Amino acid sequence: MYAPAGVKTSKDFPIPDSMKAWVLGGPGELTLKDKPVPVPKRAEVLVRIDAAAICATDLEVIYQGPPAMIQGGLPFNKNFTPGHEYMGTVAALGPGVDEYKVGQRVAVEIHAGCGQCKRCREGMYTSCHNYGLNYGDVDKGHRANGFTTDGGFCEYQVNSINTLVAIQDDMSDEEGALVVTAGTAMYALTELGGLVAGESVVVSGAGPIGLMTVAVAKALGAQPVILTEMRDNRLKIALELGADYAVNISKEPDVVAAVKKLNGGKGVDYVVECSAASKAVNDAVHMVNRGGKVCLAAFTHDLASVDIAHIVSNNIYLYGIRGEGKSAVHRAEAFMRQKRFDATKIHTHTFPLADLPTAIRYAKDRVDDAIKVVVKAKLDAAHKVAAE
Ligand SMILES: [Zn+2]
Ligand SMILES: [Zn+2]
Repeated sequence: MYAPAGVKTSKDFPIPDSMKAWVLGGPGELTLKDKPVPVPKRAEVLVRIDAAAICATDLEVIYQGPPAMIQGGLPFNKNFTPGHEYMGTVAALGPGVDEYKVGQRVAVEIHAGCGQCKRCREGMYTSCHNYGLNYGDVDKGHRANGFTTDGGFCEYQVNSINTLVAIQDDMSDEEGALVVTAGTAMYALTELGGLVAGESVVVSGAGPIGLMTVAVAKALGAQPVILTEMRDNRLKIALELGADYAVNISKEPDVVAAVKKLNGGKGVDYVVECSAASKAVNDAVHMVNRGGKVCLAAFTHDLASVDIAHIVSNNIYLYGIRGEGKSAVHRAEAFMRQKRFDATKIHTHTFPLADLPTAIRYAKDRVDDAIKVVVKAKLDAAHKVAAE
């Protein structure tokens, strides 16, 4: 039985020595294997993973490699377990940990920065300057689970206590796995963007981050919040999450003009670009008003063609976002605890952990209008839930 020296366990939570874990071989090759249950160090806990959501970035990692970086390089054939959006129950405490108890339910942030570089000291630990330096003789203390260390497509994982966010018992596992998604939207709008109530926001693209950005923007008091997207079912969900307007861009020849018309002819204060469409960045800089801000939250594979003169002459701010720094996830959880929006509207499917390849196919090919797909280790293989 699992009983590493210095680690506090509970007889109510027996932990096996080994667990099931998906391991990435070559691009797109996942195999279910046995791995030892990892051991928490100082300021870390062992989390039993109760639900893990599939994110578009997981698909990037599994099929392309970056932004994962394992042992200084691509993540392929390194016995690496991907998966970064998960929640669970604290199962064991590393030496000295008294901030959490065994049995406590937690959502987890992805990034634990090194805590000593310039960006970590600023609270921007998702931009840690020691990213990925945690192998061989080097241990800077940096972890980004599912990117630079093993992630959540398994039964147990180690997390720094800095990454934990306690959740209430009335929050389902599936909703708990979405807390970090909402935290990313929060980080984009407030910590990085500086949004205050009454400002106007366009979200382009209704993937999980886009839809959560609509919900968080509305909960923050943004007005109006406009979503641009081409799929009607997602436009409907955006309206349910609080969007003031949902623009179907497949029926709108000039999306920039359509957005401006909805905001009294002026551009908006913020655009959060979540679509990865090739012309979306240029559209975004034309949707914001003078001095407005454009947050880039999607991965595009092609270089974007953008009107730089327009950006310069209109004092437009353009910024990328990585993850969820400055404890934005705690504030997102506070919104969710108060039921300010229903994040479960973006959860569409749950599969057993053992069916991860099916779950990935649903997420990647948007089978059955899949948006957020979750895997659960405890779910019986015969029991598949399609959420409303
Ligand atoms: Zn993600
Ligand atoms: Zn750092």
